[in-house]
Amino acid sequence: MLDYHVHLWPHEDKATERELTVERLSEYCEEASKRGVREIALTEHLFRFRRGREIVEGFWADEPDEALREYMAAYFDHHATADLDLYMETVDQAKAAGLPVVAGLEVDYYPGRMDRVASLLDGYPFDVLLGSIHWLGTWMFDLIDSPVQQREWDSRGIEHAWRAYGQALEELAATRTTDVLAHPDLVKVAGRRPDSGVVREVETRIAEAAATSGMAAEISSAGLLKPAREAFPSKSLLQRFSDLAVPVTTASDTHGISRIALDVRHLHDAASMAGYVSLRAFSARVGYDVELGPVPPELSK
Ligand SMILES: [Zn+2]
Ligand SMILES: [Zn+2]
Repeated sequence: MLDYHVHLWPHEDKATERELTVERLSEYCEEASKRGVREIALTEHLFRFRRGREIVEGFWADEPDEALREYMAAYFDHHATADLDLYMETVDQAKAAGLPVVAGLEVDYYPGRMDRVASLLDGYPFDVLLGSIHWLGTWMFDLIDSPVQQREWDSRGIEHAWRAYGQALEELAATRTTDVLAHPDLVKVAGRRPDSGVVREVETRIAEAAATSGMAAEISSAGLLKPAREAFPSKSLLQRFSDLAVPVTTASDTHGISRIALDVRHLHDAASMAGYVSLRAFSARVGYDVELGPVPPELSK
């Protein structure tokens, strides 16, 4: 099994260099291995890094809603403090020490700026890049504890939000900047779903965007802990991925060590039930298959 979506810092914390040591990364690997995971991808958010902020600085400046505009500016002030070079050097040292880690990032969609994002990322030896839609413009729809963000669900409407998500995801996939669609149906995170016809329509767009762009998709246990109460993607979307031969990774989306490899058994069974016999791993941004196999012994307990 793989955990191809691992963050070092919880959102509420400032990025600290304490996590950026080979010793600390070896604890991540050890914990993952106890839970049946043989390789992890470190995929910190691009917006955690000062270099990331330089590229996307002020994309929120034209947002007419003052509360949303200021929220995004404050979000970047809080998050964008880490050093990308140090992050990459530490992952490199961990690999050289024989730890089963690969170097990744989780990259948001910045309309009109993805060329600049891509040229920044091309300068680093990444193994895998996750592509994510957490925001629709400046609306951070997945911040379920923020009244400022959640009130937008009512003013914009659920159907509108779902379709806008499908559109943004298609645009992100078409840029071919990233390798794996993270939490592919994150739009359901708050548990707000339109009628089944609209769900089907948006799921079709997501699956076709992955297939057309050649991206893989992740199966993430993070949704089980959210009001959505199911993995990302839904069973029906995972089946669509399978029907279109879209490769899959498995992921916890842990922020810090505590939830690494969370519910990996659930992810194994979801992949297997959808007809997958392999998972997609990456090295130097080239995908290759690893056998899904039976439930690893650590997981059958
Ligand atoms: Zn994410
Ligand atoms: Zn994440």
